[in-house]
Amino acid sequence: MTDLSLQCDCGALKGTVKNVSPKKGNHMVCYCDDCQGFAKYIGNEEKWLDEFGGTDLFQLAPSQVEIHQGTDQLRCMRMTPKGVYRFYTACCHSPIVNTISRKMPFAGIPLTALQGEGKDAAVGPVKCYVMGKFAKGTPPTYPHPKFSFASLVAVMSFMLKNKIQGNNVPTPFFNDNGQAVAKPDKRD
Ligand SMILES: [Zn+2]
Ligand SMILES: [Zn+2]
Repeated sequence: MTDLSLQCDCGALKGTVKNVSPKKGNHMVCYCDDCQGFAKYIGNEEKWLDEFGGTDLFQLAPSQVEIHQGTDQLRCMRMTPKGVYRFYTACCHSPIVNTISRKMPFAGIPLTALQGEGKDAAVGPVKCYVMGKFAKGTPPTYPHPKFSFASLVAVMSFMLKNKIQGNNVPTPFFNDNGQAVAKPDKRD
């Protein structure tokens, strides 16, 4: 179990992600068009995506996340009206988290936003490569075109366990009535 720091590129937003270990979460690389579209939307996509368009993420519970400074820098966008809430920062346009709702114990944090000693061991090796049908070129570890059975089991058992434990709250990303702390951007 390792505490890592959560921060945007410029350091205006700072927080802590507590008790990170390979057993407590899922280290995944997602190639989906939604993740890629988001990276394009905030800009400097080459910083956030690997050369095949993948986003390196660690899935953990919102109750493991604390933000100490720069909450006011949080901005939100949804690629589709019912899409996941994707938070980034206004200061330097760094992706911070993908999350579903206040009720769902899901916070997908891009590894680019996590720092700290022992980070590699804390997140462990990548468990699954998903949504490979959107990958650009041929990634070295061939991803499943959508979600493999193993990846579904990993995500679903994580959600179930954390829902039972009530780890969807406290969350820095939704207020008590379930609204995102930053209003999702209007897209045109
Ligand atoms: Zn920043
Ligand atoms: Zn994705």
